[in-house]
Amino acid sequence: MLDVKTRAGTNLPQADVTRLAAQVAAATRLLNMLGILDYSGHISARLPGRDALLIQPNTDSRAELLPERILTVSFDGEVLQGDDKPPSELPIHIEILKARPDVQAVLHCHMRIAIAFTMMEGVTIKPMRARSVRWESGIPVHPDPSHIKLKEQGLALAKTLGPHNAALMRAHGMVLTAESVPALLIDAVHFEENATALMQVLQAGAKPIALTRAEMDQINRHERREHHIGKLWKYYVRKGISEGLLPREWPLGV
Ligand SMILES: [Zn+2]
Repeated sequence: MLDVKTRAGTNLPQADVTRLAAQVAAATRLLNMLGILDYSGHISARLPGRDALLIQPNTDSRAELLPERILTVSFDGEVLQGDDKPPSELPIHIEILKARPDVQAVLHCHMRIAIAFTMMEGVTIKPMRARSVRWESGIPVHPDPSHIKLKEQGLALAKTLGPHNAALMRAHGMVLTAESVPALLIDAVHFEENATALMQVLQAGAKPIALTRAEMDQINRHERREHHIGKLWKYYVRKGISEGLLPREWPLGV
């Protein structure tokens, strides 16, 4: 379990911090299982009330990440709790969380099918499947293909992302933002489903028919995002437990 004393200044009950760290570890393992994360990529979670985030250590395997290994890192990049280095692309998380107070969790990954769409002339990812209304405002493409290791690079990426819920990074990867770690996991699943659907249409040689504005309005009228996230979080966590990927005792709320 996490150290109560070292995290006592978070203004959060310790049980909440422990749960958040367990969510980060579980979502990382699940995204690895789903092929969305692999040897690289990471999830961060904002510590409410603090200019700090939770994130995994640089080289810990995404396949077997442990909650007690999750670091607390300040928005200045200082490790406040934990005895390892954060990922080198930490500025992605810091600058997005600073720029977007509405965002509680950030995923950076190198989803292969998403990257493919940054390397095709004249093709962008549009909302195709019903759940992709999440990205109805657009999915900007960040033009810098290099790894984001500097504050200035993180700032530029946050600027490209703007108010949107996803951005692609040319020839490199993508970022997703959400209101919670469970929501981030479910958004990642739906993002890949949508990109895959579009790729299947293109590979069939057909002209894609994206969702229209009227269709998205109709979907949004019946959307119950919180319920949907709860349902799918339960599905994936229980699947993880039943397959031996996740320890039953982690406080994941299902
Ligand atoms: Zn990267």
